[in-house]
Amino acid sequence: PKDADLKWKKAPCRFCGVGCGVLIGLQKGKAVAVKGDPKSSVNKGLCCVKGYHSVLSIYGKDRLTKPLVKKNGKMVETSMKEALDLIASKMQETIKDHGKDAVSMYGSGQWTIPDGYAASKFMKGAIGTNNLEANARLCMASAVTGFMTSFGIDEPMGCYEDIDHADVFILWGNNMAEMHPVLFSRLLDQRMKRKVKIIDFATRTTRTSMAADRSIIFEPQTDLAVANAICYEIIDKGWVNKEFVTKHISFSKGKTKMGYGTEDFYKFKEHEEKIDFDAYKEFLKEYTPEKVARYSGVSVKDIRLMANIYGDPNQKVMSFWCMGMNQHTRGTWINNLVYNIHLLTGKISTPGNSPFSLTGQPSACGTVREVGTLTHKLPHGVVTNKKHREFAAKIWKVPVENIPSKPTYHTVEMFRALDRGEIKFMWIQVTNPMVTMPNLNRYREGCEKTGRFIVVSDIYPTPTTDVADVILPSAMWIEREGLYGNSERRTQYFEKMIDAPGEAISDSWQIIEVARRMGYGDLFPKNEATHAAELYDEYRLHQVGKKHGMAPLEVLKNQPGAMWPFVDGKSTKWRFNAEYDPACDDSKGRFHFYGKKDGKAVIWQRPYEPAAESPNKEYNYWLCTGRVIEHWHTGSMTRRIDVLHQAVPHSYVEVNPDDAKRLNIREGDKVKITSKRGTMTLPASVNGRGVPVKGQVFVPFFDEGYLINDVTLDAFDPISKQPDYKKCAVKIEKV
Ligand code: SF4
Repeated sequence: PKDADLKWKKAPCRFCGVGCGVLIGLQKGKAVAVKGDPKSSVNKGLCCVKGYHSVLSIYGKDRLTKPLVKKNGKMVETSMKEALDLIASKMQETIKDHGKDAVSMYGSGQWTIPDGYAASKFMKGAIGTNNLEANARLCMASAVTGFMTSFGIDEPMGCYEDIDHADVFILWGNNMAEMHPVLFSRLLDQRMKRKVKIIDFATRTTRTSMAADRSIIFEPQTDLAVANAICYEIIDKGWVNKEFVTKHISFSKGKTKMGYGTEDFYKFKEHEEKIDFDAYKEFLKEYTPEKVARYSGVSVKDIRLMANIYGDPNQKVMSFWCMGMNQHTRGTWINNLVYNIHLLTGKISTPGNSPFSLTGQPSACGTVREVGTLTHKLPHGVVTNKKHREFAAKIWKVPVENIPSKPTYHTVEMFRALDRGEIKFMWIQVTNPMVTMPNLNRYREGCEKTGRFIVVSDIYPTPTTDVADVILPSAMWIEREGLYGNSERRTQYFEKMIDAPGEAISDSWQIIEVARRMGYGDLFPKNEATHAAELYDEYRLHQVGKKHGMAPLEVLKNQPGAMWPFVDGKSTKWRFNAEYDPACDDSKGRFHFYGKKDGKAVIWQRPYEPAAESPNKEYNYWLCTGRVIEHWHTGSMTRRIDVLHQAVPHSYVEVNPDDAKRLNIREGDKVKITSKRGTMTLPASVNGRGVPVKGQVFVPFFDEGYLINDVTLDAFDPISKQPDYKKCAVKIEKV
């Protein structure tokens, strides 16, 4: 269609956490075109291949349009009324027979802010259970615990504008060219305009490495040691920013006694012992570049190169990371270690000096981290804190006793509890755990056991709807009003632009309808057309003050987003810097890390520890999993877009060319991958877009036809409880 024939409306992109602003072209009640929003400071008019094709994901032939209920072992169509009645009665019956903690809800970083807020209020405020988790536990929980331990407050201090000021970009295990493509194009754009460098520090070569000025490969898990070696070198060479460290930093060491159920984890407070700079320096003696080079695969020269970049006072440095650091059995630690580097050199909270943790999903930050759809969280604060419970109860208009003070299960444990039978009812929205759970066989069996009742809300059939007792058709993205929050603390609004097909309704309205049937109707908005806006307005009451104020809806309707803290009509670009952040107390100096009681950020002493499972004689390869640019997560939407599906029609296993030669594996040959937990056979990719180093293989997880998570390991970080999808031991053989 011609541009002029279309009505264009703004929205954030449906896919990834970059949060590009898009304009949706509408014609005759359908979304027919997409272009980048030139007014968006995120993407400045650009989109990636997923963004440009995003509206096609709405019109797949097999959209779920009617509720389905299992009767005599078969899914049969039913009315929305009957399906919602059944869900409400099943929840009530389960609570009556087995207690409140026998029901659970599992959501997503693709929930809109109103969806997540409705879920939190329903589960924690109305029913009174903390059995609420979201898939973001699997993708960014370590980033949260990294922030909480180092700064006492979540989410990046900087913003995307840092890219326009930095001289060097160091990517820590982050294939940014495929995972955060529009941001990566901003890096490349800077390199065309001025002299900037991109260093790709990773375990395999990818499209990012090919575009980088330098690719440095490390042995899986040794990023911990290399980060310490960089700190050693910075201190040894006298590159510490002494004034900054003296005024704004404290030093700590911790013990990892943070097993499931301990109070400390849920307070995000590790057993912390204060140390001094000399003790920290002493600890680093184990991490000289020479010692670390012996087992990390990184040369002394390359360790010194990175230390030199961070240590040079004349170079502004951004560090970027995402799943490579977060999906790590020591994910919290490696987050802390990268902050250590920036804190030692004072390269933080100023334009261009920015440790930047990226998120994967469009609202992992906005919904999961900010609304707090995790077992230990409340929209403002944590359930273990009496004052926070009182604050939430007052806004929710529920007795404070309703909100339990103890967290229950994190994601992996929630599925284990379902397997054990402690949880009998689970409602899954906007996520596909029967593709994404690690060590998947174990959790699929749990879902299929008798006596479990699973509700799945989604827009297409998936392996997760296969285990459902009730399937609810959901309205997607611009078929309803909503808000997302992206990686740079930016909240973005979108209005309802088109009608959802059939009986599909928004996830938040599904929750409200069930809540009403259970007798909690007075707690929620009454009008479907305005409920999302009403929920957002109520949510804002939780986020008051200079440290976390959110922009009002009227502002967000008229501009491509605003960054919190939103104070006196303005976004805050750089937190903890008194020049930009109104929450800072000027008397503390230029910087004030107000998340910590003493106003100081923490440099943590974190040792190198080996991975939970490493290759041995029998299982002699590392397996790493991840994404490709064309497909969003489990591919349930993007595989229904012809052009994206044709570009990458199925998953594959990347094999190093030397290994392939030795095993007589050629492009397309079937390769069987086996771990102690399961097996998967996939076509080989040799010398494709990604090339693993010898002894490693890589598999994208988007394809439900090749469930690589049958093979992966469900070991997790003891602090964040985030599993490690990047490292386990496998054997490979040509079939
Ligand atoms: Fe959408 Fe992410 Fe692509 Fe931007 S980079 S267009 S947010 S998928």
